[in-house]
Amino acid sequence: MSEVLVLVDHVDGAVRKPTLELLAIAKRLGEPSAVFIGDAGKTAEVAEKLKAYGAEKIYAVEDSQIKGYLVAPKAEALQQLVAKTSPAAVLIVSSYEGKEIAGRLAIKLESGLITDAVDVQEGPVTTQSVFAGNFTVTAKVTKGTPIITVKPNAATPEESAGAGTVEEFTAEISDAAKTAQIVASQPRKATGRPELTEAAIVVSGGRGTGGNFEPIEGLADALGAAVGASRAAVDSGWMPHSFQVGQTGKTVSPQLYVANGISGAIQHRAGMQTSKTIVAVNKDDEAPIFELVDFGVVGDLHTVLPAATEEINKR
Ligand code: FAD
Repeated sequence: MSEVLVLVDHVDGAVRKPTLELLAIAKRLGEPSAVFIGDAGKTAEVAEKLKAYGAEKIYAVEDSQIKGYLVAPKAEALQQLVAKTSPAAVLIVSSYEGKEIAGRLAIKLESGLITDAVDVQEGPVTTQSVFAGNFTVTAKVTKGTPIITVKPNAATPEESAGAGTVEEFTAEISDAAKTAQIVASQPRKATGRPELTEAAIVVSGGRGTGGNFEPIEGLADALGAAVGASRAAVDSGWMPHSFQVGQTGKTVSPQLYVANGISGAIQHRAGMQTSKTIVAVNKDDEAPIFELVDFGVVGDLHTVLPAATEEINKR
């Protein structure tokens, strides 16, 4: 069975959930191997986690020539690893960085690239949701090694131990790849909530909140969810742009999306309509969001949400 390389998305050795989702997808396509580019001191800890989620092999890439630069050296290291292993596919998380690495890698390998897949099945055949979610495209790479970036929440992580064999790999990084250096990087402020695009549950608020996000945040915390917002809420200055869900904001695909005081404009739907279960609270029973939902509550969010939060907190 051919290897399928999964590039590990991590922050200082803390493996992010979308990587575990990619391992689950890799299992469908072949033998999952993870590629960890990072601090050698973190390899054992990272490998333990990846092994628990099915990685048969973990390539630990020495990062002394990579650290401190933007993505070009990572793409070069991956290129060399692909040349060595001839994998059936390379899977990368659809983040800004992931997509740039994927693009560079595809050019270096003269391979086909598919970005923002919401599903990948045997083949590998991918599913993408395009044009604000109005079309679903199934596609397949026909040249070279398929390079595929996959959106968070496209699969459920599967706990099943792989062999977890660690193999060190030293890449030769060219000077041409070291042309953009990181001057400073600041971690996201800790909110105690999951990252919006990775969260299994998202609770969002719109203009109907009237600027009071307390009920939204209360329900989000009761559910261990991330908080999202419509553009109307962001444009009103109630929430930062990083919270915006939609065509010009973030795309989320959680297990559960709860839209509160959001009418369901096409541009908002574009960012959340692939959510597995959608619930809306809106005081207008004709709001377009109700065309989309699995469960709808017609009512004032300022009454409904605190009551729901209280019930959840009792359990
Ligand atoms: P509204 O449409 O005003 O809806 C508010 C809803 O709240 C109504 O349905 C109302 O019945 C309900 N409500 C009011 N009070 C209560 C209450 N007390 N309890 C319960 N319900 C209540 N929008 C996005 O969200 N994301 C995007 O990325 C985005 N990109 C865009 C890009 C372009 C190019 C354009 C033109 C628009 C974009 N928009 C985007 C804007 C989009 O068209 C809508 O204007 C926006 O989504 C509306 O936000 P809303 O649903 O919060 O507000």
